[in-house]
Amino acid sequence: MTDTNNSQINDTQDGDLLDITAAVTPKEGADFELQSLKIRQPQGDEVLVKIVATGMCHTDLIVRDQLYPVPLPLVLGHEGAGIVQAIGDNVKTLEVGDHVVLSYGHCGHCKQCYSGQPAYCAEFFERNFGGSDTHGNNAICTSDDQSIHDHFFAQSSFATLALSQENNAIKVTKDAPIELLGPLGCGVQTGAGAVINALKVTPASTFVTWGAGAVGLSGVMAAKICGAATIIAVDIVDSRLQLAKELGATHTINSKEQDVVEAVKEITGGGADFALESTGVPDILTQGVEALGILGKIAVVGAPALETPANFDVNDLLISGKSIVGVVEGNSRPKIFIPELVDLYLKGQFPFDKLVKYYKFDDINQAVKDSENGTTLKPIIKISD
Ligand code: NAD
Repeated sequence: MTDTNNSQINDTQDGDLLDITAAVTPKEGADFELQSLKIRQPQGDEVLVKIVATGMCHTDLIVRDQLYPVPLPLVLGHEGAGIVQAIGDNVKTLEVGDHVVLSYGHCGHCKQCYSGQPAYCAEFFERNFGGSDTHGNNAICTSDDQSIHDHFFAQSSFATLALSQENNAIKVTKDAPIELLGPLGCGVQTGAGAVINALKVTPASTFVTWGAGAVGLSGVMAAKICGAATIIAVDIVDSRLQLAKELGATHTINSKEQDVVEAVKEITGGGADFALESTGVPDILTQGVEALGILGKIAVVGAPALETPANFDVNDLLISGKSIVGVVEGNSRPKIFIPELVDLYLKGQFPFDKLVKYYKFDDINQAVKDSENGTTLKPIIKISD
């Protein structure tokens, strides 16, 4: 039996609650438990979405393992895609029946949001990792009224219904298969956006992704779109390196088998122009900085436990004019960037469907196992038709 928390379901009468099935993370490192729960109706700028499918991202698992200490028990899931089922009174741009991809939460009224950088919203951590809404309330509860932590990435989409907000529910064309699109809300836009929006990879340049998971391979596809001439994928799983080649990598390196810094320098003629660190391993970041060329730039997206340090040679950075930049969610403005990625997919230029494998909701723990042992790159959990 799962423990519950004491926060309140705000302003809702029992009659307004809807039945849902949700995958609950009951305690640190535990398997998901499918439970029958209740969720309240949307209010104000909120949108209730019938979840068709949800991607599973490494970030769900690092929160399950409490590397990021979001309170438990919790409904995870932050790559939801589905159909708008109900809207709050203040919602202006969405209507019932719209197809939406759910992305990250942001306030819309801080300096970063106003300047077009919502991924650096002043309230980013509490809106995405707070385990409740910004008032400390939950929308999900048990049948005996015990609330469950939720609002993970302003959605908690490992559930049949998810409550999000107008600004993180991104309307997409009905021409695209909605069950595929959830990963655009986080992992895929992170890799693609780091390359297109943050690094601004240039034609004929050299690019290396450290890590060929969902984020790194999205970076590979984006580097190809940007016209990079040399695209190197580094990983320790050969099947991922093979897929990297199919998606546009010109070279692959299994870092277990050779001196990877030397290999990157040799392939690029002295060091890479652009790099993406998506392993979350601090020693790999050290190698990534070392393998940059003069004026090279590395985007850091891989997420280790909070307060993890990494080393680099200060003079190497200084003398070579190298840059290290942290990137959240690919610096994406989701209302613009996600429909652009859908368009690229429909035109055959961004085949991110090659990364995914579908699982039934009942098999969510198998999806975790397959993701952790490297056999599945991007699991998508099919939740309803
Ligand atoms: P993933 O597990 O699919 O990919 C990581 C890859 O790194 C794997 O292919 C793995 O084999 C490889 N790897 C691990 N150790 C390695 C090593 N020593 N050398 C070479 N390769 C190694 O995960 P993902 O979904 O692609 O996410 C990547 C990272 O990005 C995670 O840490 C995730 O939490 C983070 N993330 C960050 C953001 C953001 O906004 N910054 C958003 C989404 C995900």
